[in-house]
Amino acid sequence: MTRPCPAPPADTATYSYLLGLYLGDGCISPHPHGGQYLRIACADAWPGLIERCRTAILTVRPGASVSLVQKQGCVAVSSYDRHWPCLFPQHGLGPKHERTIALEAWQQVIVGRHPWELVRGLVHSDGCRTMNWTTRLVAGERRRYEYPRYFFTNKSADITRLFTDALDVVGVAWKRANAKNISVARRASVALMDAYVGPKY
Ligand SMILES: [Zn+2]
Repeated sequence: MTRPCPAPPADTATYSYLLGLYLGDGCISPHPHGGQYLRIACADAWPGLIERCRTAILTVRPGASVSLVQKQGCVAVSSYDRHWPCLFPQHGLGPKHERTIALEAWQQVIVGRHPWELVRGLVHSDGCRTMNWTTRLVAGERRRYEYPRYFFTNKSADITRLFTDALDVVGVAWKRANAKNISVARRASVALMDAYVGPKY
């Protein structure tokens, strides 16, 4: 098994979370003067997630530089470190959905140990918790009922598969809403997602 250089991160739970963020909304690109930039786009609407992303980067690579770059509607959490491509070997040219995304053996071990962290990272980047509603006729009266559900949207079939594989491991029932969308709607599964992931903040 190919080992990353440097050694796998000591905090494997945080790595699994950061992997989810990277697969959802991250990219790695070379810096003009050498070294590599990791960028993770975090929507302005969720300041808690921006801070959490920053903390996760510093936990996985203590001593790496991290800066927040304001863009239209989002903040790019950017970190400069020459080892980002070793830690996220899924980097490559072009959009992720146009190439194969496969985890290295050492990443599979980490994700197998921390499936919820991967699910959380993926939902925090490409997922959401929404309220759906429906109406039902009760004693001749039409009533409105609301129920929460989770959605995950990603154009990459490989990344979607990593998400649903992890859901299978933790026992969350899911459905394919369409080619790019996974939905979690069953009450017990939504309760599990609320306990381990929760809404964005
Ligand atoms: Zn390296």
